[in-house]
Amino acid sequence: VDFYSFQNLLTPEEQASVSRVRAFLEERVRPNADELWDKAQSPRHLIPEFAALGLFGAGWPETRQFENSAVYRAWIALEISRVDPSTATFVGVHSGLAMNAVGVGGSEEQRAEWMGPMGRGELVGAFGLTEPEHGSDTARGLQTTATRDGDQWTLNGAKRWIGNATFADMVVIWARDTADDQVKGFIVRQPAEGFTATKIERKQSLRGVENADIVLENVIVPESDRLQNIDSFRDVAIVLRMTRAEVAWQAIGVMVGAYEAALAYAKQRVQFGKPIASFQLVQQKLANALSNITASIALCVRVSEMQDEGIQKDHHSAMAKAFATARMRETVALCREIMGGNGIQLDHGVARYFADAEAVFTFEGTFDMNSLIVGRAITGIAAFH
Ligand code: FAD
Repeated sequence: VDFYSFQNLLTPEEQASVSRVRAFLEERVRPNADELWDKAQSPRHLIPEFAALGLFGAGWPETRQFENSAVYRAWIALEISRVDPSTATFVGVHSGLAMNAVGVGGSEEQRAEWMGPMGRGELVGAFGLTEPEHGSDTARGLQTTATRDGDQWTLNGAKRWIGNATFADMVVIWARDTADDQVKGFIVRQPAEGFTATKIERKQSLRGVENADIVLENVIVPESDRLQNIDSFRDVAIVLRMTRAEVAWQAIGVMVGAYEAALAYAKQRVQFGKPIASFQLVQQKLANALSNITASIALCVRVSEMQDEGIQKDHHSAMAKAFATARMRETVALCREIMGGNGIQLDHGVARYFADAEAVFTFEGTFDMNSLIVGRAITGIAAFH
C-alpha cells in the first residue's frame, strides 16, 4: 500500500516502532473490532497495552518513549485507523486533544501533574469544545460560561459529541469567561458535582467511540485547574491545528483499511469464471483508490514535516484534512462497490470503514469549514465570520 515507499522517511527506530504497533493491532485490536463496533463499545480494556506501546503523548518530552518526528506519530495514527478508526479516535481524543491541551495550555505544575499519568494510561482525558447549538462556529458562538469568584470558577452550559467523556478521569472544558468574553480552558476532574455525561446512542459511524452529551450546572473548578497558558480561542486553535493534521492521517488509515479488504476480496471473488480483480473496471477502481491514498500521504507527510519545522499554519492542516477526507469518501465508496452486496455487511471488512468515514469527514472541522480556512488564506477574506 505504501506505493511510493514513504516509510523510508522514518528512522530505523521509528520503523521498528511502527512494525511493533502494526503487529499489536493485528493481534489485539482487529479480532474484536467488528464486535465492539456492533455493540457500540470502546476498546477501554486495551488502555494499559496502548500506553505500554507508547501511543499516548508520543510528541511530548515527558511522555515519549524515544525522540521522534511528527511524520512518525502521524504514521502511527494511520496504522491504528487502518485496523480500527474507532480505536484511532479514542487515542486521538485522549492523546491528541486532551494531552495536547495540557501540553500546550498547561503550566509546568499542570503538565507535571497530568502528562505522566495520562501517558501511562492511568488517567483518561476528554476534550469538550462542541456544544449542542455551536459546532462549526464555536470560536464566536461558544455559550458555556465560566465566572470567576476569587480563586474559583463556576461553569455552566452544555457540550455535545464529547468522546471518552462517559468514563474519562478529566475533561477539558472550553468556556467563555464572563469578565473578558474570551475562551478559557478548564480541567474538570471526574466525578464533579453538577457535571453529567450521557452516552449518545444509536450512532451509525465510529460506533466504537463513546461520545457524550454533557451538562454543566454550577460546576466548581479551582483557578489552579484553569489551563494557565490559554488566553483566548487563538490558543485553542494551536491544539486543533496539530490534531487536525493527524485526523487527515486517520482518514488515510480509513482508506487503507478499506482498500486492503477490497483488494483481497477482488482476488478471490469469481464472476464470469474469473476473479473480479481481472476485470478492467475493477482494476481501475483499485488504481483510483491507491492513487487517492498515495496523493494524500504525499500531502500529509509535508504538513507533518511543517509541524516539526515550526511553520505549520491553520490553513496548512485545514487543507490536508479537507483533501484527505474528501479522497477518503471517494475511496471507501469505490471499495464498497468492489465488494458488491457483501460490501454493506460488517463481516466482509469494508462496511465499518465506509460508515466510519462519515464522522471522520465531519469532526475536527467539517470539509466545508476547512475549505473556508484555506479560502481565507488564498483570498485574505474570511467567508465564515
Ligand atoms: P454544524 O456546525 O451545525 O454544521 C452543519 C453543516 O453546515 C456542515 O455541513 C457544515 O460544514 C455546514 N456549515 C456550517 N457553517 C458553515 C459556513 N459558514 N459555511 C458553509 N457551510 C457551513 N467535539 C468535541 O469538542 N470533542 C470531541 O471529542 C468530539 N468528538 C466527535 C466525535 C464524533 C463521532 C462526531 C460526529 C463529532 C465530534 N465532535 C467533537 C464534534 C465535531 O467537531 C462537530 O460535529 C463538527 O465540528 C461540526 O459541528 P456540527 O456537528 O455542530 O455541525
